[in-house]
Amino acid sequence: MTKWVYSFGGGLNEGGADMRNLLGGKGANLAEMASIGLPVPPGFTITTEVCSAYYENGNSYPTDLAEQVAAALHRIEHAVGLTFGDSKAPLLVSVRSGARVSMPGMMDTVLNLGLNDETVEGLAKSSNDERFAWDSYRRFIQMYGSVVMGVPHHRFEDILEQAKHALGVTDDTAVKANDWREIVESYKEIVLKETGKPFPADPQEQLWGAISAVFGSWMNPRANTYRKLHDIPASWGTAVNVQAMVFGNMGNDCATGVCFTRDPSTGENIFYGEYLVNAQGEDVVAGIRTPQPMSAERATPDQSPMEKVLPNAYQELMRVREILEKHYRDMQDIEFTVQNNKLYMLQTRSGKRTAAAALKIAIDMAREGLITQEEAIGRVPPASLDQLLHPTLDPKAEKNLFARGLPASPGAAAGAIVFSAEEVEEYAAQGKDAILVRIETSPEDVHGMHAARGVLTTRGGMTSHAAVVARGMGRVCVAGAGSIHVDYKAQTMTVGSTTLKGGEWITLDGGTGAVYVGKVPTIPPTLSGDFSTLMGWADEVRRLRVRANAETPDDAETARRFGAEGIGLSRTEHMFFGPDRIGHVRQMIMADDPTTRKKAIDALLPFQRDDFASIFRIMSGLPVTIRLLDPPLHEFLPHGEAELEEVAKALGQSVDALRARRSALSEANPMLGHRGCRLGISYPEIYAMQVRAIIEAAILVSKETGEAIIPEIMIPLVGMKTELDVTRKVAENEIAAVFKEQNTTLDYLIGTMIELPRAAITADQIAQSADFFSFGTNDLTQTTLGLSRDDAGSFLPYYVDHGLLPKDPFVSIDREGVGALVRMGVEGGRRTKAKLKLGVCGEHGGDPDSIAFFESVGLDYVSCSPFRVPVARLAAAQAALAHKKKEAATS
Ligand code: PEP
Ligand code: MG
Repeated sequence: MTKWVYSFGGGLNEGGADMRNLLGGKGANLAEMASIGLPVPPGFTITTEVCSAYYENGNSYPTDLAEQVAAALHRIEHAVGLTFGDSKAPLLVSVRSGARVSMPGMMDTVLNLGLNDETVEGLAKSSNDERFAWDSYRRFIQMYGSVVMGVPHHRFEDILEQAKHALGVTDDTAVKANDWREIVESYKEIVLKETGKPFPADPQEQLWGAISAVFGSWMNPRANTYRKLHDIPASWGTAVNVQAMVFGNMGNDCATGVCFTRDPSTGENIFYGEYLVNAQGEDVVAGIRTPQPMSAERATPDQSPMEKVLPNAYQELMRVREILEKHYRDMQDIEFTVQNNKLYMLQTRSGKRTAAAALKIAIDMAREGLITQEEAIGRVPPASLDQLLHPTLDPKAEKNLFARGLPASPGAAAGAIVFSAEEVEEYAAQGKDAILVRIETSPEDVHGMHAARGVLTTRGGMTSHAAVVARGMGRVCVAGAGSIHVDYKAQTMTVGSTTLKGGEWITLDGGTGAVYVGKVPTIPPTLSGDFSTLMGWADEVRRLRVRANAETPDDAETARRFGAEGIGLSRTEHMFFGPDRIGHVRQMIMADDPTTRKKAIDALLPFQRDDFASIFRIMSGLPVTIRLLDPPLHEFLPHGEAELEEVAKALGQSVDALRARRSALSEANPMLGHRGCRLGISYPEIYAMQVRAIIEAAILVSKETGEAIIPEIMIPLVGMKTELDVTRKVAENEIAAVFKEQNTTLDYLIGTMIELPRAAITADQIAQSADFFSFGTNDLTQTTLGLSRDDAGSFLPYYVDHGLLPKDPFVSIDREGVGALVRMGVEGGRRTKAKLKLGVCGEHGGDPDSIAFFESVGLDYVSCSPFRVPVARLAAAQAALAHKKKEAATS
């Protein structure tokens, strides 16, 4: 018999933290907390395998599931001494979803399940609190009605708002029992009206309705979107947790809260979170009442911190906090309820955090001895470092403050005010920056948050949906800016007498919570001491070297600042577009005879020599790879008629002659045409000039600095050894000439890019003529998949969205195809030269997943854009540790 149901709490713990795949994160951790003696109300988890079986069998359950659920429910009844559906002292339960990883977009929670017109009276009597019982009942109908039966949530809200208005109260806690009775009737009527079905009174029907809603929500469009964004396979499924209710809404010695064991924004070791007295869980995150801080240290004089209001429960929570951090060895995100001063734990999980917090927590925990240095390296997602490298607002810039909210997710962002997620996507599709402005966000807004530069909400705290989701995505977020009045209909937002309209610009400061009118200038980030500590630790363990792709002095300086250990690719064609050079380049291309061409080329020489000299100076002591001209020549020719005329005039040629040359050079498939080394073969004088410029610059800077410079000259788009032989010969002849002229020598390397399948396949032959290989995975992906780098945008996203390809192969290496060729290139090259230096300089060199692959095939270095250098250093360290672990496991 398959075990579909696992009990926890109440003396029987059948699960544990290591069973997350089967029990989901929430279920596994509830069992774990119960087993280490923390106060967890008893319950049970229906496994993720049921979810899979449910979908495989046309939305029906395994036959023996009902029996196992009944037995587990009975165990809860026994543990708490109450009976489900009992009219005198009913057991109420919560039903929550819980996938392997926390996943907004699914049905989340139904509380107070088991109430009906009879049991509510029983609850009123047994609790001796009629108001509480009816408040719970109305909550139940509201939640069940909306999340299980699909009645729009605002229907209930409207009834409640009207009732409160009529009663002259603003706070839910001021509504009396009799008034709740009437509200409950109206709720039931609205359910009937909206769904055509009465609200179910039978607790068993309620229970199965909620369970099915959880499983059903696994495949809803919002959950599907979230999974797609986060690479979560649909096959994982969700679990369902059913747990005895504890009540935070039973009076002023009751409360509910959500908190983090450390500050999820900054990583500070301070208990951080929010709670509400006399409330139930959803009140905190829904932003209906303003939650209060946990610690007195974080409270302002007008706030009521839990530390002061419920000191005993707070102290107990502090004890639990310590136990949890020691046990899980990570910052935890916890949910709790206090019922009559007694603390109950409802959830713990590893807390989502900003990149800055991830960094600080990892370093602090390693220093506190909670985790090892190597574990700390693994705790910071490499891609998240991007967030730390984000700009902040220029403190000197003039700012016009519009409002203030909570600093929910750091960084600075400016964009047009947009009030709906759909419109934000439209903005993004046109390449326009937008800030999503909402009263509060819900899972429906997630796609818009993703497309936005930043998110601003007027309601909700640091644990509100907007704050949590934006932090996870690395979007700037200011939450709960309560002074702003948003009018969706009028498409305006107003503070006092200032009104801003949709489309006008605002700037968010996610670090302070400030919202400014207009666009405020930003400045580059400064990196904290923790950042360099982590980078230092990463550098100690990584094997792969990290270089940068750079051709301007600015890029080279940034690269060096971020710890690049050399330049792996300098694309010389980028140097040809400067206003002082493009004229000579065009003359070079237009020349009819070698003499005129040579003249133009000679004019370019000093520019190139200066370019290379400044890079050598900046990168002094580090290797620099310079690639000879790669793209098709027609790219440099004038495009429009006016430009054409201008150039013709400068060259003393007719416009017609120029036009004819342009069309002679134009190709049907330029990416597969006259480019790369093919150019160097047709026009050897171009490559000779570049090589001369490289060598002369290297000699010059070596003399200046006294430091040996070993230039690495790289030939692009080689498919055959013969191509490399010809171009190498040209280079060597020119180098010999320079040495002779200057009566000196220096060491140099001549290598090639491996970016065509034929080059990878015949790498053993090519290696005979190459001092190094650098895999050009951009072209290698293009040519292996037969996918144009420039045209794939129109169909590639469909492939990824529909699972034809797991990821965009231009972002993350296609291991099976392109990766196999890289592996073949590595093996072929090293067969010929065991110590052949191997690197990668395609975009994949900065992608953490691809870096793991490059580690596994034994490349020597990766080269990526300067801002990705820290990402690559960390990813390389993680890859080295993973590799070591794998080797240890197999040896
Ligand atoms: C490549 O093809 O991977 C590469 C680095 O060269 P480019 O992107 O300049 O074609
Ligand atoms: Mg290329």
